[in-house]
Amino acid sequence: MPLTLPDLPFPKNALAPYLSDRTLEFHHDKHHKAYVDNANKLLAGTELDKEDAETIIKKVAGDPSKAAIFNNVAQAWNHSFYWNCLKPKAGGRPTGQIAQKIDADFGSYEKFAEELKNAGITQFGSGWAWLVLKNGKLEITKTLNADTPIAHGINPLLTVDVWEHAYYLDYQNRRPDYLQAVIDNLINWDFVNSRL
Ligand code: MN
Repeated sequence: MPLTLPDLPFPKNALAPYLSDRTLEFHHDKHHKAYVDNANKLLAGTELDKEDAETIIKKVAGDPSKAAIFNNVAQAWNHSFYWNCLKPKAGGRPTGQIAQKIDADFGSYEKFAEELKNAGITQFGSGWAWLVLKNGKLEITKTLNADTPIAHGINPLLTVDVWEHAYYLDYQNRRPDYLQAVIDNLINWDFVNSRL
C-alpha cells in the first residue's frame, strides 16, 4: 500500500475551542481516511502503486483519464500537510526566519494575515489557501478542490483547508471566523520554518 493515514500530530481535543475534537474526528478519521483508502484502491495493480504521493501527483496532474487518482492522492497529501500546519497554542506572529521573510515579501505580518484570510474567503466552493515559496519569494495562492501547489512544481509552506468539512461543525457558514481562528491561534510556525 503506497499511501498511509498518518496519526494526527496532536491529541484530538488539543485544538479546542478553535477546532473541536468532533471536527477532527470526522475530518481525520472519516474524510482523510476515505481519500487514502480510495487512492489505494485506485492505485492497486497499476504502475503507480510503488510511487510516493508527490511523484504520483506530478505524474497524473492534468490527465483527465487519471482525475480520480489525482483527486484522491492529492487530497491525501494535502491533508497530511494541513495537520502539520496546525499546533495547539500557536498562530499569531511568527518567529525565526519566516518572520523576516514575511516582513520582506508582504511588508508586514498584518498584510500577510489579511491576504491569507482573503484567499480562503474568496476560494469559491471547496479548496485550499496556501503560503508558497515561488522563485524565492513568498506568495499567497488558493486552489480548487484537490488541486495542490505540488502539482505545479511550487513549494508550499503552509495551508488552510477551506472545504466545508474542515469547519462546518464548529463555525457553520462562518468561513472567515474559522480562518481568523486558525491564523491567530493554530498556525505551526515551527513547521513553516522547517519548510523554508
Ligand atoms: Mn479536508
